[in-house]
Amino acid sequence: MTERSAVRILVLDDESFMLKLLNRILTNLGFTSVTLCDNGRAALERVAEADAPNVILLDLNMPEMDGIEFVRHLVDQHYAGSLILVSGEDERILQTTEKLVRAHKIPILGYLHKPVKPDALSALLEKWAPPSAEAAGSAKKVYVADDLRAAMAKSELVNYYQPKVSVATGEVVGVETLVRWQHPVDGVIFPDQFISVAEASGLINALTQVVFTAAVTQAKAWQQAHLDLRIAVNVSMDNLASLDFLNFVAELAAKVGIAPQNVVLEVTESRLMQDTRAPLEILTRLRLKRFRLSIDDFGTGHSSLAQLRDIPFDELKIDQGFVHRAWKDETLRAMYDASLSLARQLGMEVVAEGVEDRDDWDLLRRTGCDLAQGAFVSRPMLAENLPGWIESWRERVQKESLTTGELK
Ligand code: C2E
Ligand code: CA
Ligand code: CA
Repeated sequence: MTERSAVRILVLDDESFMLKLLNRILTNLGFTSVTLCDNGRAALERVAEADAPNVILLDLNMPEMDGIEFVRHLVDQHYAGSLILVSGEDERILQTTEKLVRAHKIPILGYLHKPVKPDALSALLEKWAPPSAEAAGSAKKVYVADDLRAAMAKSELVNYYQPKVSVATGEVVGVETLVRWQHPVDGVIFPDQFISVAEASGLINALTQVVFTAAVTQAKAWQQAHLDLRIAVNVSMDNLASLDFLNFVAELAAKVGIAPQNVVLEVTESRLMQDTRAPLEILTRLRLKRFRLSIDDFGTGHSSLAQLRDIPFDELKIDQGFVHRAWKDETLRAMYDASLSLARQLGMEVVAEGVEDRDDWDLLRRTGCDLAQGAFVSRPMLAENLPGWIESWRERVQKESLTTGELK
């Protein structure tokens, strides 16, 4: 067993009574490194420090930022520790949240009901093990803003494109642009290793401009080759802080000759937003100019519902965490169904992400989801491979009866 004093524990609960109580229980159990936080923001600041906690005891019900939203920010901050959920809610809510956390790949030691019993807490903390040297060795390399700035100057960012296809007809409706960094030494670097760096260092505007410019230029080339595809680009909330973005997007699309209806802007709230007025105004004006707006990763955060209410989105993307395996997992299925019906009621087109196998695809068909995206259809690819892929996809749709035949 690990030395109890070696475990750094953070307790997040809005009730000061609970904080004191848990602190006392932990101290009695021999855990000496305990930090108490009564709100999500303070806890996230603590997580960003060098000696970040190994275990967080998380209360789900909190006024400002609730536990689910907090988890989402933990993912963005690449939190490497474990979680224990604590709540006065019923079993079902705890179970649902546990699945949600697991979908985010954060190790979860378990959950506790209030009032917390010392034995139960002790048993869960027993399960914690320090990260092995092996895991630490294979940890992803961290890049800093200067690396990224240099990469952009040397044009090392490359767009990959992943198809979005109609579930009813198999038609390739569009592609999502996913940026990669072709690093001269480290090989292909994925966006989760540099987008948050770009956001934190103010490089995200330059990055988005590079990605967007290449994407619409590519869309034009496809159009000239008689491939009419909607082109989707990921937009960070940080891009929406100033009107420059609006002007940039509108002017570039006009100059290249791509109709706004064929440009999809996929928006995620990836970081804490202090002031949402500017993004709201910019998104609304983009929509008035007929650009298509898509709400990305739907279902992973608390803020999504508020965004849906405030912004006229055309498309909703159900997060892959609620798509793959939803045909056999009741909880995932409930999230999937709820997202789908919400989108329907609001008249939005629905895209299911993370369609990985035939069972996932068949669920989309049975439930009438509009578009599918995922490894079952195709992984992201270089632009030059798209025309060939479309041909083979058409054959596959026929051969495997993807859009016809009996549905189980
Ligand atoms: P996202 O927008 O949710 O993009 C979908 C991610 O899921 C992509 O990861 C894609 O490669 C992956 N994916 C596709 N199909 C499957 C599947 O069947 N199973 C699984 N497990 N994964 C699948 P990728 O390319 O690593 O991108 C990660 C995230 O980085 C994106 O998530 C997006 O939020 C962000 N990102 C990518 N490009 C840009 C960009 O140009 N600008 C900004 N701001 N963010 C970007
Ligand atoms: Ca996206
Ligand atoms: Ca997504």
